[in-house]
Amino acid sequence: MEIAVRVENKYGGDLRAGLVGPLAKIRQSLKHFPNIADPGADRILLFGGIAPIPAIPSNCPHVLVRIQRGRERENYGVTYREAQQAIESEVPATFDARTRAYLLLKHHGQNLFKRTKPKWPDCPVNAHCAFFGTNSHGRN
Ligand code: SF4
Repeated sequence: MEIAVRVENKYGGDLRAGLVGPLAKIRQSLKHFPNIADPGADRILLFGGIAPIPAIPSNCPHVLVRIQRGRERENYGVTYREAQQAIESEVPATFDARTRAYLLLKHHGQNLFKRTKPKWPDCPVNAHCAFFGTNSHGRN
């Protein structure tokens, strides 16, 4: 209800038309909605076709960081930014490529990268994973 009222009152019922202008301003507008922080804003910017942001699934920022560094940071925001930097530097800044990267990370995080019942021995990228190489769970 709150979201609908905001879209109606602030954007005349057309949120898409209201999300124009500098990216920082659009991001701030999105973050005024309930439960939308940076990961949610990034996801909307990418999947809404507004900007090919290196969005990361909010519950999986550790996936890419563990693969590359072996361990994620204690701070969620730092881990999220490191995952974004990895996408930024290695995935072309196109909607298709970054959407695919987002969906692959999400799929990987939900299906292989489980904290309980890990499926690391079956992981197709374990030979390239720093976490698998240094964590005893990965050798079971
Ligand atoms: S080996 Fe384990 S930690 Fe590494 S990418 Fe695969 S599922 Fe993730």
